[in-house]
Amino acid sequence: MAPVTDDTAPAGRGDTAPARRGDDGGDPACWLRRVCPACGRLADADPPVRCTACGGLLPAD
Ligand SMILES: [Zn+2]
Repeated sequence: MAPVTDDTAPAGRGDTAPARRGDDGGDPACWLRRVCPACGRLADADPPVRCTACGGLLPAD
């Protein structure tokens, strides 16, 4: 007999990115600081960098 739990476990997780779950401890700022304060665009690189959309400077924190 096949155990029922084997069939429900993979579907019950529902994680979008299970491989990154352990890395997601508490560093949302790593991309938040890339957001341009003037226009809200996401920069391509870590600050300090200039916004490619409006030319505003993203300060390095
Ligand atoms: Zn901008």
